[in-house]
Amino acid sequence: MVIERGSTAKDLGPKLNRSAADVVRFLLQQGEMITATQTLSDDMIELFAADVGAAIRLVDPGQEQEVGLQQLLDVLDEEDENEADLRPRPAVVTVMGHVDHGKTLLLDRIRSASVAADEAGGITQHIGAYQVEKNGKRLTFIDTPGHEAFTAMRARGAEATDIVILVVAADDGVMPTTLEALAHARAAEVPIVVAINKVDRDNADPDRVRQQLAEHGLIPEQWGGDTVMVEISALQDLGIDDLIDNLLVVAELEDLRANPEGRAYGVVLEAKLDVGRGPVATVLVQRGQLEVGDPMVAGPAWGRVRALIDDKGEQVKQAGPGSPVQVLGLSEVADAGDDFVVAPDDRTARRVGETRGQYARIKSIASDASAITTGVKLEDIFEQIQKGEAATLNLVLKADVNGSLEALTDSLRRLERDEVKIVFVHRAVGGITQYDVQLASATGATIIGFNVRPDRKSRELAETEDVEIRTYEIIYQVIADIGNALVGLLAPEFEEVVTGEAEVREVFRVPRVGAVAGCYVRSGVITRNSPVRFLREGTIIWKGTINSLRRFKDDVREVAAGFECGVGLSDFQDLKPGDVIETFQQREIPRT
Ligand code: GDP
Repeated sequence: MVIERGSTAKDLGPKLNRSAADVVRFLLQQGEMITATQTLSDDMIELFAADVGAAIRLVDPGQEQEVGLQQLLDVLDEEDENEADLRPRPAVVTVMGHVDHGKTLLLDRIRSASVAADEAGGITQHIGAYQVEKNGKRLTFIDTPGHEAFTAMRARGAEATDIVILVVAADDGVMPTTLEALAHARAAEVPIVVAINKVDRDNADPDRVRQQLAEHGLIPEQWGGDTVMVEISALQDLGIDDLIDNLLVVAELEDLRANPEGRAYGVVLEAKLDVGRGPVATVLVQRGQLEVGDPMVAGPAWGRVRALIDDKGEQVKQAGPGSPVQVLGLSEVADAGDDFVVAPDDRTARRVGETRGQYARIKSIASDASAITTGVKLEDIFEQIQKGEAATLNLVLKADVNGSLEALTDSLRRLERDEVKIVFVHRAVGGITQYDVQLASATGATIIGFNVRPDRKSRELAETEDVEIRTYEIIYQVIADIGNALVGLLAPEFEEVVTGEAEVREVFRVPRVGAVAGCYVRSGVITRNSPVRFLREGTIIWKGTINSLRRFKDDVREVAAGFECGVGLSDFQDLKPGDVIETFQQREIPRT
């Protein structure tokens, strides 16, 4: 059973055939006071699962859908294993080689040869790939020459190509890029057919090319090796037929098969936003029949297939293995190399797509901060608005529970105006982490914490990275603060300076005193009577003051870092080892 991190008792109970109340009751017995809608720690989830005897795996939110999709694909793969269902499919060919050696012209030649042969002929539609038919056999050519696209696809796990044509100009010979392309084709374990091009040129020397390639391990068939090498002239249309015949032979040897029935899957070759038609993706079907009306997911994009357009520019009802086809009806522009799969129903398609989208956004922001407009600091935002410039306020929003996260998001959204855009670069339940600070730093975001706190490392990082962290315990206060900032009335920030931090080592009962937490002071000084809060995994679980502070048997006023102490817990008894006690002071931060 897969359980998402940050689940609540309400999420968890039913998944394990229990009620939310069962979870709450169980945790209470363990000394954990939580409500049904409060986020559970990993420990709590695992404890409860162990208690009911369920084997679980904790995953980050969103990962479950990935897992779900993988299962979807696995099922399809298994279906494929039924030999009897497999039928021959066209080979997919990619053209690679050094720049100016004639890749583009060769692809044009092959294409126009096929169009001329086609009775309907005439309209050539560049959709990123096309098919050629000869003697009842078909080949699919990827229309983007060069190994950049090929490697980009492979890097994303897409193995679309069955055969590589390595183009080498007979006058120029083997060049650095030729060798690069060769290395990529070899790494992909894809058979290579060499096209020695420009043999029409006076200074063409095909033998030298063969010699050079042989030195790199590609031995021509003519010399007893097993690499097919065909001399061609893309310019004069010589040898193209021969090349195609050879490709068909190699394809035949590869014995490429796929199940042409059932739910389709494959890979996105290219995608763009088309004015009028919306997002358009060219996909290569690798298995099954892709049909109009199918609910599908392609990377983060999802939707019902509204129309399919083939490489001749004609609308078709379906496309089978090895066919490139344009898909209309997706929700957004997918990326080349994204996989696509037909989902069992619309809901699944949507769920998988949306979750992937959220995931991808977070990832891309984290790895490539330029993907998002850098935000303006809260204290500078009014100035920018006054200058008549549009301002973007980027926020990282962290809260204790989902409910407050949603409520805050809604309220903050309402503050958006023409001149101020509010972008949530990340929203999640949980304490403020170093990741949040890095993200905020990279995107110029302000961090808003609601009933959650940064731990010491994140706080330090925020200082060095000059990231503002604002923490609140009242929703109204968040809205008022941000709203005021937007009209130039940013309230002075009362920073709570953490004065001391102690870790709870154990909790014991002392007659007449009550519960006492045995602590180790990690930093600063813990002072009696100072305001204090108790944190569990970055989330505030209690706020108050320290009434009794002891070292051994003596009452003391303060205890410094490196020492142990006992903290009396008059009102709040629910501490456990690992919790953190933080003392703090209010201090107004001067505006610069
Ligand atoms: P790519 O960079 O590999 O895609 O190469 P192109 O297809 O753009 O071709 C580069 C140049 O070589 C163009 O000016 C072509 O016209 C020329 N070219 C391509 N094939 C031949 C050929 O077979 N013979 C001659 N003489 N020129 C060719």
